[in-house]
Amino acid sequence: MNASPNLLDMDATALVAFCTQLGEKPFRARQLLRWIHVNGQSDIQAMSDLAKSFRTKLASTAQILAPPILRDSTASDGTRKWLLDVGCGNAVETVFIPEPDRGTLCVSSQAGCAVNCSFCSTGKQGFSRNLTPGEIIAQLWMAEFLLRRDLNQSDRVISNVVMMGMGEPLLNYEPVITAMRLMLDDNAYGLSRRRVTLSTSGVVPMIERLARDLPVALAVSLHASNDRLRDQLVPLNKKYPIKELLTACNFYLKYAPRDFITFEYCMLDGVNDFDTHAHELIKIAEQVKCKFNLIPFNPFEGSGLKRSPRQRIERFAKLLTDAGVFTTIRKTRGDDIDAACGQLAGNIQDRTKLAQRTLKFTAKKQLLNQGVSPNDLYVETIRPYS
Ligand code: SAH
Ligand code: SF4
Repeated sequence: MNASPNLLDMDATALVAFCTQLGEKPFRARQLLRWIHVNGQSDIQAMSDLAKSFRTKLASTAQILAPPILRDSTASDGTRKWLLDVGCGNAVETVFIPEPDRGTLCVSSQAGCAVNCSFCSTGKQGFSRNLTPGEIIAQLWMAEFLLRRDLNQSDRVISNVVMMGMGEPLLNYEPVITAMRLMLDDNAYGLSRRRVTLSTSGVVPMIERLARDLPVALAVSLHASNDRLRDQLVPLNKKYPIKELLTACNFYLKYAPRDFITFEYCMLDGVNDFDTHAHELIKIAEQVKCKFNLIPFNPFEGSGLKRSPRQRIERFAKLLTDAGVFTTIRKTRGDDIDAACGQLAGNIQDRTKLAQRTLKFTAKKQLLNQGVSPNDLYVETIRPYS
């Protein structure tokens, strides 16, 4: 099936090309962009300053399509989480975190993740697929205009975006860049580069490419102070070890909108939270201008890991701070709806390929144990939405 083009997939350049293809002037692209991303309009016929003939042509050739919302939950601290259906049994999550001075949206870039960090529930699901630019920007589009409606406010609600939801954004590079261009475009969301943060587990060549293409604020998921430990926690480290990662960070800083990299460090009890680790991190901080954000581990079923005790996290932070390394401890938000870092999609694992495979495997094993011949086996893949 050949679906008609989705206008949410297009940044300004792509929209100009699309309008030209339809025989329209390039400025129509700006009008369209503003209708969609400034006004939140999804009905082409309601775009009143476009000629009727253009609207009719557009409505018959293109669509404005966002993933359907499967679940919409709000935590006691005001954190709001949406579960979005991206088809074929895949779902991704988007989280809004309100604070007195800002509203932050945490956006997903992939359904699942191939990096498979040992402390991350998204990683434990396996990788399903990359999101399209439209599926990425639709998270901001949907959240911004739903929040405005629900809060009965016409001003902007979301002031910051963090690419810290499900997936590794630098392993879905082009769609992520297209979506971030829209975030920064004055005819769309007009966010400054300092207010859009991309978080990566350390895809070194892509960090360098991002520096040249669209240098937004950068967060790097470090989580370990030496290669031996990082190889275990973030398997991508075997390909891009810490030394190369730090070189890429220094390259990035020449282009970055802030003069530091944020290193994220998930505090895991008895794993990466000893004084020796803090001392190794201090050495790392001598090589790159950085800040540390210590994230108390958010547990999920079957992880086999525990959050470092509060006292340990505070001592760790003090060791870093006393050595002159700026360090914060991340406040955990949205625990009661599993919206905290690393918990995303933790409770919909039966929608994932990995779980489907496991279920298929278990069912097969049971049947084989019951004496059924392997040739007679046919186990239907579980289709959660059917
Ligand atoms: N893939 C990217 C962005 C998504 S993860 C990355 O890894 O940076 C966003 C952040 O949440 C990362 O710093 C990640 O390491 C952290 N995180 C993942 N699982 C976590 C967990 N269970 N508890 C706390 N933080 C976690
Ligand atoms: Fe993927 Fe990031 Fe989770 Fe690692 S922490 S598995 S890179 S989403």
